[in-house]
This record gives sequence, structure tokens and C-alpha cells, in this order.
Amino acid sequence: MKIDGQCHCGRVRYTATVDPENASVCHCTDCQAISGSAFRTTLRVPDSDFEMTGEIKTYEKIAANGNERALVFCLNCGTQMYGTMVGAGPKRLSVRLGTCNQRAQLPPKRQIWCQSAMPWVNDLASVPMSPAQD
Ligand SMILES: [Zn+2]
Ligand SMILES: [Zn+2]
Repeated sequence: MKIDGQCHCGRVRYTATVDPENASVCHCTDCQAISGSAFRTTLRVPDSDFEMTGEIKTYEKIAANGNERALVFCLNCGTQMYGTMVGAGPKRLSVRLGTCNQRAQLPPKRQIWCQSAMPWVNDLASVPMSPAQD
């Protein structure tokens, strides 16, 4: 499936070819902190199937499994674009689903790091809903 996307300010843009089976939710505590939300939704894609333009900033962290990870942001607006492994060779990117224009057609197929999931995350359907800002 062909996708495209951009950061909030529009200076960073990408196109990619993805397998819709590779959409997932991560409940790890790093994703909670860095996304500023309860969990993060990502789309795994080989770097050979991904092309991006625009000025970025990279932040490196040590993941919970001990691996170094590079996190890529728009230099101007700070939108998270993707995370990936550090070092030489072909890479797998975890593209942030919220930046993808086709995200409504890419429901998550698995959830990981559920041990740190918010205890209320499965209860949202029963919380009062408003179609726009309250
Ligand atoms: Zn931006
Ligand atoms: Zn995570």
C-alpha cells in the first residue's frame, strides 16, 4: 500500500510503501513519555521503501530492550516522524501513524509492551464522547 505523510508544519514530508499488517500500538513507557500520550501507533517499514524530505532533528535513546534507538523529529515543529535502529546497514523504521494521511485505513494489528499499558485504555468506548472540542 502506498502512503504519504507530513509533520504538523508541513516542512517534512514522506512517501512509502507499507504492508498494512505492520501497523501496531506500543504501550511502553518511552512511547508514553515521548508521544505525550497514553500509547503510540506505528507502522513498520524497511528504509528502502521510505523516502523523506525536510530538515530533521535526531534524538538517540537506549530502549527498554537495551538497543540504541534514533528518534527523528521535524526540526521546526517537533512532530515525531519515525524511530529506527542505530548503525550501518538496512534499517526498519517505525513511522508514526499520526503523520500518515492514510492512517484511518491502517488499524493496528498488534499491541506490544502491554505490561505498561494504562489500566483504562480499553475502557474509552464507555467514556462520554463529543464530536469536537467539549
Ligand atoms: Zn514540521
Ligand atoms: Zn514503545
